[in-house]
Amino acid sequence: MPEYNTLLTVAIPSPLRRLFDYLPNPDMNIQQLRPGMRLSVPFGHQKAVTGILIKVSTQMVAPAAKMRAIHGVIDDIGLDQDILSLCQWCASYYHYPLGEVCHLALPVLLRKNTPAPQLLQTESWQLTKTGKQQTAESFGRAKKQYVLWQLVQKYPCITPDTLKTAGISRTIVNTLINKGILEKITIDSALFNSVPTQPISTSTIALNPEQQEALKRIDIQQFNTYLLNGVTGSGKTEIYLQTIAKVTSTGKQALLLVPEIGLTPQTLERFQQRFNIPVATTHSGMTDRQRFNIWLGARAGQASIIIGTRSAIFTPLPKLGLIIIDEEHDLSYKQQEGVRYSARDIAIIRAQKNNIPIILGSATPSLETLHNALNQRFIHLQLTKRATAAHLPEIRCINQQDASLSPEIVHTIKETLNKQQQVLVFINRRGYAPTLICQECNWLSQCNNCDCRMTVHQFQQHNQHLHCHHCDCKTTVPSRCPHCHSAHLQPLGQGTQRSEEELKQYFTVPILRIDKDSMSRKGELKSALSLVNSGQACILVGTQMLAKGHHFANVSLAVILGFDNSFFSSDFRGAERMGQLLTQVAGRAGREKYQGRVLLHTQFEGHPHLQILLKHGYNHLAQQLLAERQHNHMPPYQYMALIRCHAQQSTIAIGFLQQARLLAHNICPPTHQIQYLGPLPATIEKCNNRYYYYLQIKTKERKQLHFLLTELCWQLEQQRQTKGLHWLVDVDPQEV
Ligand code: ADP
Ligand code: ZN
Ligand code: ZN
Repeated sequence: MPEYNTLLTVAIPSPLRRLFDYLPNPDMNIQQLRPGMRLSVPFGHQKAVTGILIKVSTQMVAPAAKMRAIHGVIDDIGLDQDILSLCQWCASYYHYPLGEVCHLALPVLLRKNTPAPQLLQTESWQLTKTGKQQTAESFGRAKKQYVLWQLVQKYPCITPDTLKTAGISRTIVNTLINKGILEKITIDSALFNSVPTQPISTSTIALNPEQQEALKRIDIQQFNTYLLNGVTGSGKTEIYLQTIAKVTSTGKQALLLVPEIGLTPQTLERFQQRFNIPVATTHSGMTDRQRFNIWLGARAGQASIIIGTRSAIFTPLPKLGLIIIDEEHDLSYKQQEGVRYSARDIAIIRAQKNNIPIILGSATPSLETLHNALNQRFIHLQLTKRATAAHLPEIRCINQQDASLSPEIVHTIKETLNKQQQVLVFINRRGYAPTLICQECNWLSQCNNCDCRMTVHQFQQHNQHLHCHHCDCKTTVPSRCPHCHSAHLQPLGQGTQRSEEELKQYFTVPILRIDKDSMSRKGELKSALSLVNSGQACILVGTQMLAKGHHFANVSLAVILGFDNSFFSSDFRGAERMGQLLTQVAGRAGREKYQGRVLLHTQFEGHPHLQILLKHGYNHLAQQLLAERQHNHMPPYQYMALIRCHAQQSTIAIGFLQQARLLAHNICPPTHQIQYLGPLPATIEKCNNRYYYYLQIKTKERKQLHFLLTELCWQLEQQRQTKGLHWLVDVDPQEV
């Protein structure tokens, strides 16, 4: 006989797009159960995995169903209701198993099947009410006490570290505690990294009329998506700061997403110096423990401002009042593995659910965002001028075949350095040269595992080796050509190391290379940046790491080398990316008192897209590209998803996608409403001995795309899985 039973529906990290039902443990109190809680459950052959409780219900269960019981509740720290509902949106929009999405939203320490660790706490001190009412006179001749009292006013609270730096002893602290001026508090040691190391500077900058208008239009009381579309250096960050100040003064929390925190410590400092409240950061450079503490601090409402990278969008913030996405066009907001989510798009959904404003800031907005602003779904705020005296730099093209330094470039660099200003040399290739070539037979250094060339790397003129940037394999440089045995092997093309070496032949000022290789050495970026910030004449050489959000006050010349690859991208977003990159790099020059100049080395000065960019700027180019997208029925005018797959043999990958296409045709036959393309090879077809292919699906209506994907995923899941084949769905793909 079937009988009524309490059923627990649980999300479990597994490739299956479904939830799993369990019985409660007979010893447990069912009343304590809340959706979002972490449960320990048996799963398949695994003894215990961490699942998230989705719902509790009463149902008829046949005895034959042989349901298993959960082991128990792990602890009461799990996903808050609003984060869980965000995960549910994410799972249905990106067609990914909810269990996997929940897993991703949890801090790493909570993915384990063990209770959450205790919060680490540290002592510190803050002013009491009485303390705040003191005057200088009340300290009489107790000079040290007065110094401490003054110091504490500049910080939200004072830590043992700050005391040490200021040379003040604990005795003085104790004296003020006894007088009722100071009180001891314990703060989470995570928030500790958020206590400013420098005094707060409360002076706010007087906004210019465009900034004032933008700030005025941002309504902090309700949901709206704002595109803050301001040219580089137009004072967008200042708008962020002042909007955050408004929001936090009402006791609410603000979340700021940035592309890569480690690269822009100055941004962080700027925030910490402005606010008398804890600013916490979370990013991949931190330990799991540190990130967990921040998560707890945010969840408890203690951290008022959270600055983080992509995954910080899942931070629980009970008093959330504002979300800001800086450099909203940046590719790093789209996760390129596992759940292929866009943190920007999830953020918009989160803001909508919470009825709070969200600001997307960029000098080079993505075409999607611009499209939404132009058709008034977003509110378009524009800053058309630089905030400082300088005008936007002009870009001058230098036509020359190879990317080595021409006399004109050398001359202009010299001129700039002589004025004690700084130079930025951008080249979008790390390493010494993109490939090695045999001058006799044109053999090229191909990677054995991938469809790409191996890059020549060299460290200070010795220790040459070949490195594949895709599968990370390294080999020594052959002394003779493997094909014709000629000894005439030459590095071909230009990378950052080669440019650095070349620059050293002309200039004696410090030359700082900033790319993934140099930055993997700890502290190197920090010391490089502090030299740049000291303002002395120097040259920065680097990849697009240099283009992201830095504010170098003394850089007045940007030289862009080896840019022409950007014109030949096979990706439909190629031209958009070209325009963004060029505008962002150029935007590093002349951000404060000096007028900036930009030299662009290219053989394609006449390229129509480049011409529009040079003559009219990014927004014009973007509108032109939107017209082209509309004409070609591409996003944002149509909706796109890819079924991606990879396998050890290309035939397996292709066969799977052919099958997928047939299934899809049965669900939604191709019409002018829905189009299929492929299977096609990915840009890099073979990578690390696996073959990458995709099937492209494009629809006129978003609804239809989701209908198809839901059905198709279900059918694909029912098929017998070929061993070694991996497939996934990529909704709103950013790269093919
Ligand atoms: P963006 O974020 O748009 O690149 P920033 O906010 O970093 O621009 O501003 C660029 C520079 O201009 C910074 O040094 C900033 O302090 C300064 N700035 C911003 N707004 C103003 C203003 N209203 N008056 C003077 N300087 C300003
Ligand atoms: Zn490789
Ligand atoms: Zn050869």
